Amino acid sequence: MGAQQVLETIKEKNVQFVDFRFTDLAGRSHHITLPADQVDEDTFVNGVAFDGSSIPGFRGIEESDMVMMPDPETSYIDPFTEHPTLIVTCNIYTPDGERYDRDPRSIAQKAEEYLKSTGIGTAAYFAPESEFFIFDDVRFTSGMNKSFYEVDSEEGFWNTGRTEEGGNLGFKVRVKGGYVPVQPVDSQQDIRSEMVRLMQEAGLKVERHHHEVATAGQGEINFRFDTLTKTADNLMKYKYIIHNTARQYGKVATFMPKPLFGDNGSGMHVHQSIFNGDTPLFYEKGAYANLSELALNYIGGILFHAPALIALTNPSTNSFKRLVPGYEAPVNLVFSKGNRSAAIRIPVAAVTPKGCRIEFRTPDSTANPYLAFAAMLLAGLDGIKRKIDPRALGYGPLDKNIYELSDEEKREIRSVPGSLDEALNALEADHEFLTAGGVFTEGFIENYIAFKRAEAKDVAIRTHPHEYSLYFDC
Ligand code: GLN
Ligand code: MG
Ligand code: MG
Ligand code: MG
Repeated sequence: MGAQQVLETIKEKNVQFVDFRFTDLAGRSHHITLPADQVDEDTFVNGVAFDGSSIPGFRGIEESDMVMMPDPETSYIDPFTEHPTLIVTCNIYTPDGERYDRDPRSIAQKAEEYLKSTGIGTAAYFAPESEFFIFDDVRFTSGMNKSFYEVDSEEGFWNTGRTEEGGNLGFKVRVKGGYVPVQPVDSQQDIRSEMVRLMQEAGLKVERHHHEVATAGQGEINFRFDTLTKTADNLMKYKYIIHNTARQYGKVATFMPKPLFGDNGSGMHVHQSIFNGDTPLFYEKGAYANLSELALNYIGGILFHAPALIALTNPSTNSFKRLVPGYEAPVNLVFSKGNRSAAIRIPVAAVTPKGCRIEFRTPDSTANPYLAFAAMLLAGLDGIKRKIDPRALGYGPLDKNIYELSDEEKREIRSVPGSLDEALNALEADHEFLTAGGVFTEGFIENYIAFKRAEAKDVAIRTHPHEYSLYFDC
C-alpha cells in the first residue's frame, strides 16, 4: 500500500484521525495524532515532527527535533478508538533526513539489508510466541504486596484475594496446571477470542490461541511468521491489541516475564529461518533434526554470542527471574530436538522442508522486537560467516534429560547469564557481530548499555519485599 492508497482508505472508511506511531528503545509505542484533513501526500514525504528529547533513551535536549517518517504499508484501523482512526507505523529520521541510528525499526530494516548484502539469503523469517498474563485490575493495582507473588497454600493454588475466586477452589487452575484445560477452568476463552477477532480485523494472520501452563490467566496467541521488520511490526500490533482488549474487559494484561514467583513465567520463543528466494536454507533431509550445515552454523552463532545477545532479547531485571530451572524456560546454552530446557529447540513434529526452523526459547516480551530480531539474525549470520560449529564448541546436540546428567557432564554445559548486569557486561565485551554492516552503531550500543545499567541499578538499590522475611527480625 502506497501513500496514495492510504489517502484513498481515509476517504473510503471515513477516517477522521491518523495516528503516527514509533517504537522507543525499550520497545514501547508512542503516537502523535493528526486530524485526517491535515494529512496529504507531503506528510508521507516530509514526515511528522516531534520532540525526541522527551523519549527515554533518545536524544539529549540540545538536539530534540526529530521526524516520524510514515510507512504506508503498515496502516490499519485502530480497533479501540471512538472516532475512526488509522494507525501508521513510522521510522525515525534526523532533521537532516538520515535514518536515526537509535531508531529500532531502522535497525531492523538495516539488518534485512545486511542479510541481502552478504549473499547468504534473501529473507529471514521470524515467528514469536509471546506469552502474557491477564490479571484482574484490582489484583494488579494492589499487587505489590506479598500475596501477589507468593504461592499460598500447600495445594498449590494462588491466593490472590480476588473476589471472583473467593474461598472456592473448584474448577480453578492449579500452579503450573494451566496448559489447555477447557472452560470453566479456562476462564479467559472469550477474552482471548475477542483479542484474536480484533487482530484478524487489523490484518494479523492468527493461527491459534490457548491457555498457558501457569495459573489462571496465562495465555498465548500465535500469528503467522513473516519477514523480520514485518514480524516486529506485527508484534507491536499484537501487544497493543492484547493490552487494550484486556482494558475493555476491566482487566490488565502484562508481558512481564516473571510476575508470579513459583509458577511459569512468560517467554517469547522466536522461530527463525533463512530462505534464498523460494529455497529454505535450514533444511537437509536425513541430517540431525533435518538441519543443514548452514542452520547449524546459525545455531552456533546464536549460542556463541548468547550471553551478549541476551542483553537485547531479555533486557529487563525481571527477565532473569524467568531464566531459572523448573519452569520450561531455558537455562542451558545448548540445542536439542526435544529438550525444553535447551536455549534452542528444533521443532521436528509435522515439519516440512519450508517449515524447517530453529526455536530460540530464551527471549521474552520485554525485548524490543526490532532490536531483538535484528540481533538474533546478526548473531546467526556471524555463525554462518565464521562457520561456527556448535557441536565442536560443546553446545550439543543434547537430547538427554539435563537433570539426569552427572555433575561433570553438567559442568561442561554453559548457562544463560544470571542477571541483566551480567548480560550487559557480555554485550560490552562482545558486540562486533552487531556492528557488522553498520546495522547497530557503536554509539547505539554504548547508549543502550548505559540506559539498561541505570534500570538495573534502580532495581538493585530498592529494598525487596522478600528481604523483610529474610532480615527484618535479625
Ligand atoms: N512459559 C514457558 C517459558 O517461559 C514456555 C512454556 C511453553 O510454551 N511450553 O518459556
Ligand atoms: Mg507456543
Ligand atoms: Mg507457550
Ligand atoms: Mg515454543
